[in-house]
Amino acid sequence: MEFNFATDATLFECTRCSRCCSLDVMLSDEEMERLGEDVDRKWHTTRKVMGPSDPVCCLLKGNACAIYESRPKLCRVYPFLAIPVADLEEMKEQIPESAIRISDDGESYVIIYDEKCPGIGSGRTSNWPEIVSITKSHIHDFERT
Ligand code: SF4
Ligand code: SF4
Repeated sequence: MEFNFATDATLFECTRCSRCCSLDVMLSDEEMERLGEDVDRKWHTTRKVMGPSDPVCCLLKGNACAIYESRPKLCRVYPFLAIPVADLEEMKEQIPESAIRISDDGESYVIIYDEKCPGIGSGRTSNWPEIVSITKSHIHDFERT
C-alpha cells in the first residue's frame, strides 16, 4: 500500500467541497447509537442518499455537515489519520525521514493523508498531536466493542 506521510511542509485547508462525505466513515458502536436512524448498520457507516452525482452521507445538507460540532471522529481527522510506527514497521513499510513523528503515551505515531482531498497543499499545518489523540480515541472506542 502506498502511504502519503505528513511532513513539516504538509499544508491543509478544507475547501468545503464535501467530497469526503461520499466516503464510508467507519463508526464506533457509540457513534452508531448516537446517530440512530442516520446509520447504515450493515456497513457500520452513515446512511447514504443520492446526491447530485454520487451517493452522499445523509447528514450532508447543501455542502455543510448537519452535525458538524458532533460529527464522527474519523470525519474530524479527515484527510489525516495517525498510525503507530510499530504497526508500519511490522508491515515492513518504509517511513521517510521527513515524516512527522508524534510521541503519545510512550508510543510513536506518523500521520498519513488522503492525497485526493483538494484541501491538501494549501492553508496551514495541522494540529498533529490532536490528530493522534482523536485517532487513538477512535481506535479505543472500537476495541471496547
Ligand atoms: S475532501 Fe477535503 S477539502 Fe473537501 S470537504 Fe473533505 S476535508 Fe474538506
Ligand atoms: S457526518 Fe458530516 S462530516 Fe461526516 S460524512 Fe456525514 S456529512 Fe460528512
